[in-house]
Amino acid sequence: MILAGNWKMHKTISEAKKFVSLLLNELHDVKEFETVVCPPFTALSEVGEILSGRNIKLGAQNVFYEDQGAFTGEVSPVMLKEIGVEYVIVGHSERRRIFKEDDELINRKIRAVLEKGMTPIFCVGETLEEREKGLTFCVVEKQVREGLYGLSREEAQKVVIAYEPVWAIGTGKVATPQQAQEVHAFIRRLLSEMYDDETAETIRILYGGSIKPDNFLGLIVQKDIDGGLVGGASLKESFVELARIMK
Ligand code: PEP
Repeated sequence: MILAGNWKMHKTISEAKKFVSLLLNELHDVKEFETVVCPPFTALSEVGEILSGRNIKLGAQNVFYEDQGAFTGEVSPVMLKEIGVEYVIVGHSERRRIFKEDDELINRKIRAVLEKGMTPIFCVGETLEEREKGLTFCVVEKQVREGLYGLSREEAQKVVIAYEPVWAIGTGKVATPQQAQEVHAFIRRLLSEMYDDETAETIRILYGGSIKPDNFLGLIVQKDIDGGLVGGASLKESFVELARIMK
């Protein structure tokens, strides 16, 4: 299981260092699952130094797919690898919506991350409008098929998928455990159709969207939910509470 915190565009370097030291203090005994924090790019290197050799892993929130070149403002997989990044969030709904990332670009990023031996946390999920029109499975299927396009079964097994219904992100409106489990089971079946049962069982599928200490347990006990990707609640001590619940 994995508990991952997406800090989004929050915390300066000094704030990030202070917070991650608190997390290490509180969570140094956690071995039962993987804990990941994803600070903004500016804080990655210094947070990485503090986390080096410890039980909390370093993640990035985005990446470009080329190693280097004329891509103003972008950060490459090699650059992330060098500072100890192990996980990279790819295809977050904020990147899809605000920065117009499409499935093809996301697929390139996933491949680039895998090529450098890092783990993509590949986000999928429907908007409220799509859910209300009954399109949830159709949207999620397209995102999964196109995001994983061309990956071998060995490569696919290394990907972590995060089901994040867009209507639940940062809204305080969490999916019910049943709503989440239904989509997770659908993704698992789809993976088994695209690859095989073993691959479908190996791939970890996280839930994300307004996770809080008071709704987390009901979600993580679901059969096909292998942990959480947490935004708002990962910026405070509530992240420690979430880790205690996972234990
Ligand atoms: C996220 O940004 O991935 C997320 C799930 O945010 P929040 O927990 O704030 O809804």
